[in-house]
Amino acid sequence: MPPLKIAIIGAGPVSLTLANIFQNNDISFTIYEAADNFRTSGGTLDLHPESGQLALKEAGLWDAFVKHSRPEADCAKIVNFEGEVLWDENLCKKNDVSEEEKFAGRPEIDRKVLLEILYKNLRSDAITFGKRLDCVVSSSIYDTKYDLHFADSSREAGFDLVVGADGAWSKVRMLLSDIKPQYSGISMVEVNCSDIHANLWLLEFVGAGSMFSFGEARAVFAQRQGDGGLRVYAALRVPGDFVETCGIDWEDKDVAREELVERYFHDIHDDLKRVTLDCKDELMPRALWELPVGFTWAHRSGVTLIGDAAHLMTPFAGVGVNVGMTDALVLGREIVAAVRGAKELDDAIKEYEKEMFPRAEENAKETAEGKECHFSKDGAKIVADMMREHHVPG
Ligand SMILES: Cc1cc2nc3c(=O)[nH]c(=O)nc-3n(C[C@H](O)[C@H](O)[C@H](O)COP(=O)(O)OP(=O)(O)OC[C@H]3O[C@@H](n4cnc5c(N)ncnc54)[C@H](O)[C@@H]3O)c2cc1C
Repeated sequence: MPPLKIAIIGAGPVSLTLANIFQNNDISFTIYEAADNFRTSGGTLDLHPESGQLALKEAGLWDAFVKHSRPEADCAKIVNFEGEVLWDENLCKKNDVSEEEKFAGRPEIDRKVLLEILYKNLRSDAITFGKRLDCVVSSSIYDTKYDLHFADSSREAGFDLVVGADGAWSKVRMLLSDIKPQYSGISMVEVNCSDIHANLWLLEFVGAGSMFSFGEARAVFAQRQGDGGLRVYAALRVPGDFVETCGIDWEDKDVAREELVERYFHDIHDDLKRVTLDCKDELMPRALWELPVGFTWAHRSGVTLIGDAAHLMTPFAGVGVNVGMTDALVLGREIVAAVRGAKELDDAIKEYEKEMFPRAEENAKETAEGKECHFSKDGAKIVADMMREHHVPG
């Protein structure tokens, strides 16, 4: 087979996983990323053994993951709105554990660190920055190829394969489907404390990993970050225009934080209010969007989607990036087989989509159930009981 011309759109964790797999197998590709340079932000992600961790092994980055991930942060505490601690893994952590045991759960890694590991391993010209894709069109010259049109009016022509890894609002998806993400019913306000060690109460209350509190239509989650910070999400089941119309001035973060707690969380336990109020650094409100459970598209030669572009989900099962990195693993293996002459490129893409659609649907269902449970009256008790049931005593 003559060398394939491959474009990957977007430089998120899923795209960069696929790129590393391609690079390890001497498959050339170009990533087109909308941002002007390599930017890393976002909270902590947990990578599971059978998905995210497996993809990193395939990408040749397992040792880097072991070095930089935080298995000790795989430690949950569940508190109900009355302040009662229903489950606390800080109290049952084992000390002497093998590497296998350490990584058997859901070790955390900061999104920033994960992106750096993936990015630094790539050849220096792998990503073209400042290229916001406008649309993918059938090539004006070659029958079976595609051209890329960018927002800066530039064009790149003649791709055999375009992989859309361009996240929630994917432009590549528009060539495959009319379906757009829908509002999930949940909006969250994220607040940060950049140095949790400067606030001993916060350190003690949250523990080594994450603290979760759920109840009717509301939730508070706190997550320790690898850089010594704490990120707290105060989440609400509210209409989709809540952030714009609720009347809180988000620009004035000190007033906004107080007003948010006073208006929407005034009746919950003081500790849960304090965990939000003590995070006085950055503040960011956002609505959460999702693709319908079971979203698929009719196969089209030479174009496919991976990651959030293919199956955007809310974070209420903590699986989004894991499902996406598995996409990278499965598609990567298929394309390697095609390049080595074991199958046609089109069959490779079909095989990937056949495997991915039901896997994504199963995870999207689990996420939808997680969302219902977390925002229900007995959410904290249900989750604590579930964790107790699955707990293997040390
Ligand atoms: C609060 C929160 C917590 C989460 N926690 C977890 C967790 O614990 N575990 C887990 O598994 N998942 C979690 N997720 C989900 C996870 O963050 C996503 O599934 C993951 O980031 C998807 O990666 P991606 O590479 O597909 O897309 P993205 O990370 O969205 O990357 C897409 C890239 O494409 C670029 N791009 C977009 N449009 C264009 C364009 N037109 N042209 C060129 N480039 C473009 C963007 O700039 C970006 O770099 C969480 C999500 C949220 C919101």
